[in-house]
Amino acid sequence: MNKSISSSQFQLMEETKLFVKNEIPRQLLLDMDAEVVRYPHEFIQNLARNHLLGIRFPKKYGGRGLDWSHEVLALEEIGVLGASLACLFSLPSIVGEAINVFGSDYQKANYLKNILNGSISVAEALTEPRGGSDFFGATTEAKKDGDNFILNGQKRFIVGAEGADLFMVYARTGALNEKHNSMSAFLVERSKGLEVEHVYGLMGTRGGGTGRVRFKNVKVPFKNILGEVNRAEEIFNQMMIPERMTSAAGALGLARTALEIAAKYSDKRKAFGQRIREFEGVNFKISESLTRLDAARALVGMTGRMIDSGEPAGKIRRLVSESKKFATETAWFVVNEAMQIMGGIGYTNVYPIERLLRDARLMLIWTGTNEIMNLVIQHEYFKELFKSPSSSRDVEGDAINSNLEDEKIYE
Ligand SMILES: Cc1cc2nc3c(=O)[nH]c(=O)nc-3n(C[C@H](O)[C@H](O)[C@H](O)COP(=O)(O)OP(=O)(O)OC[C@H]3O[C@@H](n4cnc5c(N)ncnc54)[C@H](O)[C@@H]3O)c2cc1C
Repeated sequence: MNKSISSSQFQLMEETKLFVKNEIPRQLLLDMDAEVVRYPHEFIQNLARNHLLGIRFPKKYGGRGLDWSHEVLALEEIGVLGASLACLFSLPSIVGEAINVFGSDYQKANYLKNILNGSISVAEALTEPRGGSDFFGATTEAKKDGDNFILNGQKRFIVGAEGADLFMVYARTGALNEKHNSMSAFLVERSKGLEVEHVYGLMGTRGGGTGRVRFKNVKVPFKNILGEVNRAEEIFNQMMIPERMTSAAGALGLARTALEIAAKYSDKRKAFGQRIREFEGVNFKISESLTRLDAARALVGMTGRMIDSGEPAGKIRRLVSESKKFATETAWFVVNEAMQIMGGIGYTNVYPIERLLRDARLMLIWTGTNEIMNLVIQHEYFKELFKSPSSSRDVEGDAINSNLEDEKIYE
């Protein structure tokens, strides 16, 4: 029992750990990496059977009614399996967030419930060939036609696209120059005119059905609009919480497992007549990796608690972005150090470090690049800094010459 977490958090963590240990065949991971398996349907079914989908969503829709402080613990355990399975585990949490917060009763009963019981697989389609970071510049459009919208355009790099029954799609319903007030979010069933093409040549994160999605006059009934027409910005902001928290918490598991493999190796491998873990050049890498990993876990855990306690949206946005940036950069650092500790054998497929390294690299790019995280972090910080007079001590005044106003020229 870990005394710093509640018994229900501990139980969920242990349950997920056992699921990861016992329910995922080694062959599935190998086949996904080799793209023999292009979409692991069975994994989603298995998660649903084990009631691991929708941890945060209401019990009446099949969720567990828990919170972020629980979900991050489960995510870390799933992260041990690598980025593809962690992402497929996360998609119901991401798309589910939009439906749970903004969806109609019909959408919750018809979609959220079936996503959580595993009878509907989902994908989220934001990124377009013309740009991902510039999300509000997206050009996929939806035109009203009687009781329907007609979708035309394309999205790329969509995880789960090959197996999804339902796509959450953002499309333009207003004028392009209205950028932030002209996008709407749709729940689009796989139907006539929606075509998925396999994306070849991914460095890692394979076997998760990543594809290009084309919409050619796809008919979407009005009842499948999420929230209000032209108001998708609000949904986007809400969805970025699970989008980025899942990346952050999943990265912890990947890093943890890479570090464990390398640390155990360093205890067995000998050079110059001694175990390599006895060389400072090796064991300091372990210290540094572990310290960063613990710091990342603390940040992700704190952010989870802040979301649960309903802190202001701007502060949540900053912390979620910090968590995504720091945890993914930590994972990249740790997995590289793990490879270095293992020497040449770490670079081969005798150990899974090379696969974890290929997976980890993507984490700095997806769900918003870490440059975009920096953009958000400083933006929200400046807003907080100037919002209200500070209640802290005026330390600027503690300098000897703080009263020399003529020296305080800023322009
Ligand atoms: C394997 C894979 C899976 C993915 N899964 C999904 C998915 O399921 N659904 C989905 O919708 N998307 C998905 N993505 C897309 C991913 O989120 C985007 O690739 C990412 O957001 C970056 O967008 P981009 O590729 O268009 O790069 P660009 O936006 O073109 O960025 C290129 C570079 O410019 C930098 N840049 C751009 N704007 C700024 C700025 N204002 N300040 C500083 N730097 C800037 C970026 O940081 C980056 O370094 C996936 C991508 C991959 C590769």
